[in-house]
Amino acid sequence: MNEKQIAIIGGGIMGVTLAYKLSQQPGLSITIYERGAYLGGLAGYMPYDGVRMDRFYHTILSSDMSMQNLMKESGVDDRLHFTETKQGFYDAGKLYPFNTPVELLTFPPLNIIQRLRLALQIVVAQFESDWRKMDEVPVEDWLVRVSGRGVYEKVWKPMLRAKFDTAFTGVPATYIWSRLKRMMGTRQGVTSKEMMCYLENGYFTLIEALAAKAEGQGVNIKLNTAVEKVVIENGRAVGLSVDGELHPYDMVISTLQSPILGQLVPDAPQNFRSQLLDQEYLGVLCPLLILNRSLTPYYVVNITDQRIPFTAVVETTRLIDPKHVKGHHLVYLPKYLAPDNEMARWPDDKVKTEWLGHLKRMFPDFQESWITEFIVQRARYVEPIRPMGTSDQIPSIKTPVDGLYMGNTVMIYPDLGNGEAVTRYAYKVIDQVLADLKTAPAAAPVPVA
Ligand SMILES: Cc1cc2nc3c(=O)[nH]c(=O)nc-3n(C[C@H](O)[C@H](O)[C@H](O)COP(=O)(O)OP(=O)(O)OC[C@H]3O[C@@H](n4cnc5c(N)ncnc54)[C@H](O)[C@@H]3O)c2cc1C
Repeated sequence: MNEKQIAIIGGGIMGVTLAYKLSQQPGLSITIYERGAYLGGLAGYMPYDGVRMDRFYHTILSSDMSMQNLMKESGVDDRLHFTETKQGFYDAGKLYPFNTPVELLTFPPLNIIQRLRLALQIVVAQFESDWRKMDEVPVEDWLVRVSGRGVYEKVWKPMLRAKFDTAFTGVPATYIWSRLKRMMGTRQGVTSKEMMCYLENGYFTLIEALAAKAEGQGVNIKLNTAVEKVVIENGRAVGLSVDGELHPYDMVISTLQSPILGQLVPDAPQNFRSQLLDQEYLGVLCPLLILNRSLTPYYVVNITDQRIPFTAVVETTRLIDPKHVKGHHLVYLPKYLAPDNEMARWPDDKVKTEWLGHLKRMFPDFQESWITEFIVQRARYVEPIRPMGTSDQIPSIKTPVDGLYMGNTVMIYPDLGNGEAVTRYAYKVIDQVLADLKTAPAAAPVPVA
């Protein structure tokens, strides 16, 4: 009778992890609301030719232990495969390997001094442990100071452009520093081989297994159910509005990206709501080419040529064994988009013409007859943009609205917003929720007539 009713908004990896873990606690009744037809959100899948394929490319690093533990708990760890992956660099019309220390120290686009400075940057990042210090330094200043202007223009600037489009002017050094630390965690031994992992049929395999466990623990999952509003009365979240009806809850946990949550809380304190609505995000335009043969020997090819609209060639079937995707070869060609980039409005036909034109110039042997399908995937809210020195403005798990909690990638800082960081953050949300439930005053006794 005293069960606490908890609603989780969003059935991505954060929402499903929260539901799975919280439903192991006694006295909690959990419901997930997901507006899509499937769980998974950004880590969701696309059915094709009788198999599931990741909507967006997703890799799991060998150092992603929180994800791997969840795989063990949900019994899908036998479908996790470790593979050595290779990276390439496309510069001035040529493709170069960019993996081992030897390849780095002989990387033709740079001279010997520049190569040494690039190596130094990677080493310096490993020894730096104070992210707050990095947060005060503009990324360009940090990179130019250690690597020099030449390496910045040739290597780092294209990488920043790849991730932030044009929006990297106010970005702190924390971003590249976090990325270098994370990527070095995948290197093994003196040969520095890069080991990555994939789950058969993508992240969704884990999400589905966790959701099944959660349902076994009593979680109610409502798909195709968009929350229209968090109902707030006297400063307290009392439930959700769905199809115009009130669904009452004791507690609401949002896993939505901040501007989406901002739209659902018109009755929250105005400064909190503005903070949510004003949070800027990069979007992504990410065509997936399904090919009948492999395009490159690399898992990722980084591109320095600014005329090419996509910023990497990600051939996930250099990581995933093609036998798990019916022998197809999968190539993703992403372009992250600043909020004002008009490419977000390009129709699919235009994207296809532009993308293929450039792909043919990059790979002169490439033939259109290799293409089985060209599918354009898009998402508006992908990567939060956090300007320098604003880490004190990160929203708290416990919002100013009583009973309303939140967890999303804006709050995962200085880590990058990937599955590993998201699942680790879910545990922080759970700790906060459980601590508050423990100290919550007992409900007022119902007056006896
Ligand atoms: C191109 C790309 C590549 C990536 N590569 C990697 C990678 O290699 N490795 C890695 O670990 N991570 C990667 N990521 C990041 C990873 O996908 C995200 O960090 C993770 O999926 C975020 O999960 P989430 O649950 O926080 O958010 P989301 O997945 O966004 O989940 C939020 C959910 O809320 C739902 N929702 C929205 N509005 C409502 C509403 N009103 N009512 C109900 N439900 C609603 C949405 O439908 C969605 O399912 C990549 C992402 C992209 C886009």
